[in-house]
Amino acid sequence: MRAFSSKIPEKCWVGEQQKVCYATREEAEAAALVAEHDYGAPKLAVYKCEYGDHWHLSSHN
Ligand SMILES: [Zn+2]
Repeated sequence: MRAFSSKIPEKCWVGEQQKVCYATREEAEAAALVAEHDYGAPKLAVYKCEYGDHWHLSSHN
C-alpha cells in the first residue's frame, strides 16, 4: 500500500544515463504503457537492472 507522497523516484546510473528505477516488473510495465499512451513514446522495453534489485525502461530496440 502506497500513500501519495513527495518521494523522489529512485534513479541509478546506467552507462552515461540516469534512469528511473521501478521496484517491480509490473510497475515498470505500467509506466511504459503510460509513457506510450501519454507521449506517444515508442514501445519501451522493461529489463532488470544489472546493478540493483529493480527494473528500468529502455527505448532501444
Ligand atoms: Zn538500476
